[in-house]
Amino acid sequence: MLGTLLIVSGPSGSGKTTLCRRAEADGLTAYSISCTTRQPRPGEQDGVDYHFLSPETFSAKVAAGEFLEHATVHGNSYGTLKADIIDLLQQGKNVVMDIDVQGAASIRACTDSIIRRAYADVYIHVPAAELEARLRGRQTDSEEVIQLRLHNAAAEDARQGEYQFALVSADREHDYARFLALLTTLSMRTTLAQ
Ligand code: 5GP
Repeated sequence: MLGTLLIVSGPSGSGKTTLCRRAEADGLTAYSISCTTRQPRPGEQDGVDYHFLSPETFSAKVAAGEFLEHATVHGNSYGTLKADIIDLLQQGKNVVMDIDVQGAASIRACTDSIIRRAYADVYIHVPAAELEARLRGRQTDSEEVIQLRLHNAAAEDARQGEYQFALVSADREHDYARFLALLTTLSMRTTLAQ
């Protein structure tokens, strides 16, 4: 059986990264480590949180066609290496990808047969007032960054209808239970037979 490729999108503060990391920590999925040109935040490690690349190295990989998808988010480049994902799926591993709406749209357009058979996507929706409270609560970003993220969240929410599934965020445990239920169901698809 091929693994499932589950694309997880939602605004910054939706908890999507926490869901993906927790499923990985519980041994249910392999987390795909993205490449980015942004600077590491305090505590972030190269090769663990992201592959932190210079803009020149990132551009060379784009030119070589190495990315399954890449996009500019909040002024920085982000991308996922195609070979990494296909390799994991063929080993039967479930892969979750925490990416933005642009990235999800480009993977949906991918013609690779393994990617197409393994593909599914879910949007994590957070009511607006709750999202603002969460962004302020984590105290890692400036007011300017918070405002930019709220603005971007509204634009991302408008594209929720492009996704196969939506998870309306309530609390950590509720969200995780529903996320696992989705993964279990997806792993039963007949399209995954090799
Ligand atoms: P952050 O810099 O806060 O870690 O992430 C900023 C945004 O970039 C988030 O919305 C995250 O989902 C998105 N992102 C992270 N990795 C990738 C990737 O590989 N591709 C795309 N398109 N977006 C990504």
